[in-house]
Amino acid sequence: MTYRGRFAPSPTGHLHFGSLVAAVGSWLCARHAGGQWLLRVEDIDPPREMPGSAESILAALPAFGLMADGPALFQSNRQAAYDAAFEQLKATDQVFPCWCSRNDLAGGLHLDGRCLAAPSPGREPAWRLRVPDIDVSFDDALQGPQAQNLRSTAGDFVIRRVEGYYAYQLACVVDDASQGITEVVRGNDLLDSTPRQIFLQRCLNLPTPSYLHLPLALDGSGRKLSKSEQAHPVDPTDPLPALGRALAFLELPVSSTAREPGDLLDHALERFDPTRLPHCSERMAA
Ligand code: GLU
Repeated sequence: MTYRGRFAPSPTGHLHFGSLVAAVGSWLCARHAGGQWLLRVEDIDPPREMPGSAESILAALPAFGLMADGPALFQSNRQAAYDAAFEQLKATDQVFPCWCSRNDLAGGLHLDGRCLAAPSPGREPAWRLRVPDIDVSFDDALQGPQAQNLRSTAGDFVIRRVEGYYAYQLACVVDDASQGITEVVRGNDLLDSTPRQIFLQRCLNLPTPSYLHLPLALDGSGRKLSKSEQAHPVDPTDPLPALGRALAFLELPVSSTAREPGDLLDHALERFDPTRLPHCSERMAA
């Protein structure tokens, strides 16, 4: 089977150091395997998006030498695929409508497959997946064996929000399958989403790719670098310094003679061994 990896940014800001690390890590894994590297713009949450962000991220990647195999898939064009997945879950009684407010659910109340509030006519419900009391386990290529009790950790999680937007978990699973992704390489902040995604894949009869979660880049005060906070944007007009820092963050060799981002990447790729990536869950960005 051809290796297919992907980079799937949310367009909530300009490309920042944390996303550059995910882009570089997933690109290196794909190229090392002789596979493809695909892009997906996760623009399914309009309130969180920043105008111009998708264009800015997509223009920055080639400036860092990161060429994708084909045009990016935009989640905003994928409504029909998510509707079909949702209908499939409905038809098999794996979801239920829920009118519970945040207040209703405060205190860690478990829904147990049904809404605790009265249906409220004229108000749209959220739709939740029925989550049984099961442990979902998987072997992360970098972080090692993982196991999560889905009921106690995630509960009956929302797959379609009150506003009608599909949740990241559903869209991600549908698109990873539709893009034929064989290995998901991304930041470690998504490690605890993975059991939910594996469970959803089973509910929808979709294949489960393998997973590799890269160490998460933290800022000087130990917080996740986040696009929405505009932390550490990287400068695509001067790509070598940030690209060098991203490679060093992943403990990869940084050529001192490379003049182009492509040369810096090729130098690292020639010496790349995914098993030697840093196994820690997070580390400070330089
Ligand atoms: N869109 C997510 C982000 O920008 C990444 C999702 C994924 O890689 O599964 O953090």
